[in-house]
Amino acid sequence: MPDEFEAVLQPEAGFLLADRAIVAHVTLARRLGAEVNENEAVRRWQVIGDRLEVETDRARHETGSLSLAAGAWTAKLLDPLKTLAIPERQVVGWFATDGPHFAPGQFPVFILDCPGNGTFYGIPQQHEEGFKVGKFHHRCQTVDADSIDRRIVPEDITVLTGIGDYLAKPMGAPVGFKTCMFVNSPDEHFILDALPEHRNVVVAAGFSGHGYKFCAAVGEILADLAMQGHTPHDTHLFKLSRPALGQHRPVSATAVGGPEA
Ligand SMILES: Cc1cc2nc3c(=O)[nH]c(=O)nc-3n(C[C@H](O)[C@H](O)[C@H](O)COP(=O)(O)OP(=O)(O)OC[C@H]3O[C@@H](n4cnc5c(N)ncnc54)[C@H](O)[C@@H]3O)c2cc1C
Repeated sequence: MPDEFEAVLQPEAGFLLADRAIVAHVTLARRLGAEVNENEAVRRWQVIGDRLEVETDRARHETGSLSLAAGAWTAKLLDPLKTLAIPERQVVGWFATDGPHFAPGQFPVFILDCPGNGTFYGIPQQHEEGFKVGKFHHRCQTVDADSIDRRIVPEDITVLTGIGDYLAKPMGAPVGFKTCMFVNSPDEHFILDALPEHRNVVVAAGFSGHGYKFCAAVGEILADLAMQGHTPHDTHLFKLSRPALGQHRPVSATAVGGPEA
């Protein structure tokens, strides 16, 4: 690292294998009685009196409360979120390594803030996958979740190999890339709140690239809000009414609402 950089090392830090963690959460939820309908897309929802109806590509469900957490697609289900939860194209890459320098125990999970050159992040080598690198806001490309271009172009690779300037050992050839999306809120804090017009509709969005590690707590908060209407967790930073969201709220949606009641 350049001499002028400062470092904070947390020896107890680690990383989650998100795919496995999701399977674990769903397995536990089912064991506790939850009904999880996979591959069932929500088309629309509407308020009917004090109840809600959710229409999917398979069925209509009636419910007393609804939590909307559709990632990059959330604004498609809740129009006023268009200016508050904005999908952004991201590319992560895996690179070959030569020797053990990038192995867990030798190489950290890192976030590297490089003045004038953005912020890289990555995790050590996993099995044969190589070590993983991404850069926050990648090429600053706001996208529509349904029409994002997932093809990898040379500019994507150039962004990621920029980390090489800061590594003690040369990084190897690319092993693979994946295109995905961040969903950014204006202040990059989460949006976790009930809608002012429909308190039985709760939204979780705008995780701005750092939501996964909090998903267990987020789920607890959503369940509290949906079932009790309040939560003991301090969520003031995540409220729809916080000032940082005010100037981005569309004029017609000062009170954020769902479809016509
Ligand atoms: C490259 C990259 C690196 C990241 N690194 C980290 C990290 O290091 N640490 C961290 O904490 N977070 C990280 N994140 C962020 C983390 O992945 C997100 O914050 C988190 O996944 C957001 O959860 P979500 O439930 O809002 O959205 P998602 O995880 O995207 O889940 C939304 C789900 O809703 C489904 N859906 C969408 N529309 C509908 C519909 N109409 N009907 C039914 N289902 C629908 C989608 O298919 C999807 O399964 C990273 C993200 C990316 C892209």
